[in-house]
Amino acid sequence: MSQLLFPFTPATRKPAHAEPAKAPLPQTRALVQRQPESALVSAQASTPPAVRIPRADLFLSPAQQLAEQLEECINEAVEVEFTDNAWTMVSYKRIAGRLHYRLHHMFAAAPADVVRAIAGFCGRARKLHGKTIDAFIRTHRQLIRTAPAPDANALQTRGDVHDLAEIYTHLNGLHFEGKIDARIGWGRRAPDRRRRSIKMGVYMHDQRLIRIHPALDDVRVPRMFVELVTFHEMLHQAIPPKSAEDGRRCVHGREFREAERKFPAYEQARAWEKSHLHILLRRSS
Ligand SMILES: [Zn+2]
Repeated sequence: MSQLLFPFTPATRKPAHAEPAKAPLPQTRALVQRQPESALVSAQASTPPAVRIPRADLFLSPAQQLAEQLEECINEAVEVEFTDNAWTMVSYKRIAGRLHYRLHHMFAAAPADVVRAIAGFCGRARKLHGKTIDAFIRTHRQLIRTAPAPDANALQTRGDVHDLAEIYTHLNGLHFEGKIDARIGWGRRAPDRRRRSIKMGVYMHDQRLIRIHPALDDVRVPRMFVELVTFHEMLHQAIPPKSAEDGRRCVHGREFREAERKFPAYEQARAWEKSHLHILLRRSS
């Protein structure tokens, strides 16, 4: 199966815990099963209708209509199912000789060029079509429901050593005029193992949620370093990703990096990171 994820970051960045609980959502499943022309004709012929029968496509659901449009582009049997996913906007797979699309419901109103892009997305020029789809998603992102945070109450801020809520509030007042509006918590502890790399923190825009890696909750990790990591994630809200001219998403642009360097202990914290990274990588968590 192939899929296009939102936000537009590589799938590997999708945090495991960000997959929202699958709430029973209303979904429209459209099997494009048109009645054969002859059946309609013979039905009309045998029983003269008292009322005029409208054109058959007036009865088609939005999913069926889109499936028809896609079929015209692909020349292949297509099914469309609309979803209310928070992460996966476009996915498709082939089931029993049919191309089965699962599309966010925003695509019910997709213009012709976007329909062509969806059709082309399963072909060779996938990247190119992905850009058109990305652009459409970006202008309709308000239709994407904010992923519910089932663990909202379980968000741990107080660690054994560092108190993230305290650090966050302190930084918000000191550097952001208290304007950052996010929740913060420690990430889940992974099974005990050595790490090759570590992602210190992550900011999830749709949930306004900052997660800090639990390995940082360690007496050997100075507060200024936890502060820099937290500051970095808060900056992601203050300076959201921009789309570069070539369509790529720029997460840590120049403006971001310059603002980050204004963190008072920036050099100190980065120097500490360089010389103590092994603590974070080898620490059993
Ligand atoms: Zn970042």
